[in-house]
Amino acid sequence: MTSDLFNNFADGGVGNVQTGEGVDLKKALLSKLKEIYNNLDSPALREVIEKCELEEFEDKVVIRVPDEYCKFAFLKEIYPRLKSEFNVPLPVLTPSEDIVFELSPKYTFKNFIVGKGNVYAVRACQVAVENLRRKSLPFNPIFIYGKVGVGKTHLLQATGNKALEKGFKVVYRSSIDFAEEVVSALKEGSIGYLREFYKNVDVLLIDDIQFMAGKERTQLEFFNIFNHLYQNNKLVVIASDRPPKRLKDIMDRLVNRFEGGLVTELKIDEVVKKAIIREKLIIYGMPVDEGIIEYIAQNTGDNVREIEGFIARLKIEEPKGEKLGPALKTPSPEEILKVVSDYYGIPKGKLLKKTRNRKISLARQVAIYLIRELCGLPLAKIGRIFGVTDHTSVLYAIKKISAMIKEDNEFSSEVDFLKRRLNL
Ligand code: ADP
Ligand code: MG
Repeated sequence: MTSDLFNNFADGGVGNVQTGEGVDLKKALLSKLKEIYNNLDSPALREVIEKCELEEFEDKVVIRVPDEYCKFAFLKEIYPRLKSEFNVPLPVLTPSEDIVFELSPKYTFKNFIVGKGNVYAVRACQVAVENLRRKSLPFNPIFIYGKVGVGKTHLLQATGNKALEKGFKVVYRSSIDFAEEVVSALKEGSIGYLREFYKNVDVLLIDDIQFMAGKERTQLEFFNIFNHLYQNNKLVVIASDRPPKRLKDIMDRLVNRFEGGLVTELKIDEVVKKAIIREKLIIYGMPVDEGIIEYIAQNTGDNVREIEGFIARLKIEEPKGEKLGPALKTPSPEEILKVVSDYYGIPKGKLLKKTRNRKISLARQVAIYLIRELCGLPLAKIGRIFGVTDHTSVLYAIKKISAMIKEDNEFSSEVDFLKRRLNL
């Protein structure tokens, strides 16, 4: 047999295993996989087994398959034979899926600056983690809301990292990724596995819950998982851009659950803001001077990403000996795309293609709006940049964004912020 899976293991592929349980589980899995492999008649299915790898994390083993096809075949034909003998979650993942590795160690409580505007939320998360082993959590779920760039993701991740450090099973998910997982699990018939996976975590962190809007099936799956975790005293922390009551197209049952926990707003106050500016100046190797801190504080909003962008720009301007402060100019479509792409964390290539993904589509529409407003290009030309032949969708994007700016203050300040980044 030429399987990499079995050879690696025999060659000491387990040498880097960190936990005893992981090794045992991996060994047991491997021997069961060998048995299944030897009893398989289909060469194609044998190949699927040969191509997969076993990865340990904490006390879990992840079955890594190379692509969607292998995942489908594995879940349909091999997984049922395997699962009957193992009473633990066995995630089967393609390389692009990461359930257990989504926490980034760079976000911790240690590097989170605390002040009046965020102390309550921070303490709530810390106390919850400290109480994870207790019979009942002081508050559950914790619902953190706040504007863009006030540290929601950082706080969620810090909570996760702390819990991970204490040996708990932690899953961090943006609601977009969760929804995608639900959809593909339904398609592949692996929803049972997905439920089981989520019901086995100690801490579930769901970021940007507002993007679950309108996704009924996803909400239903989340509701069931949530109830299970809640009843078993497992912590759920949710981040949102608005309070539960203002969530649109989210089922009442879920909103009620959120309101039944601890709901707290995350804000950046002046003291925190200045402390963050000071820290960022140090990181960027710039002079830390009260005057500069004051100048930056006055020229930026309560959005750490904006503050960072402002400092980064000062850093670029510095060697040219230009005066500090914004200069008026007309940005190019290219510059606008870059700023929008950086801000939303969506690659430029994705902004240029039509998509059904709401988050990407909104960012695309914002880019279209800004290009029209700031560069004044004709609709047809903007259409060509965004790969559409008729310009009705360009017009639609501009109208939609203009209306949103009028109706939604938070969104309006987001667009203002983007304009400021473009030096306007
Ligand atoms: P949100 O999720 O609310 O949009 P993020 O958590 O992504 O915001 O924060 C944006 C950036 O600001 C991140 O780099 C984060 O580390 C930093 N940040 C936010 N709040 C703080 C804070 N209180 N202390 C230190 N860094 C912060
Ligand atoms: Mg965030």
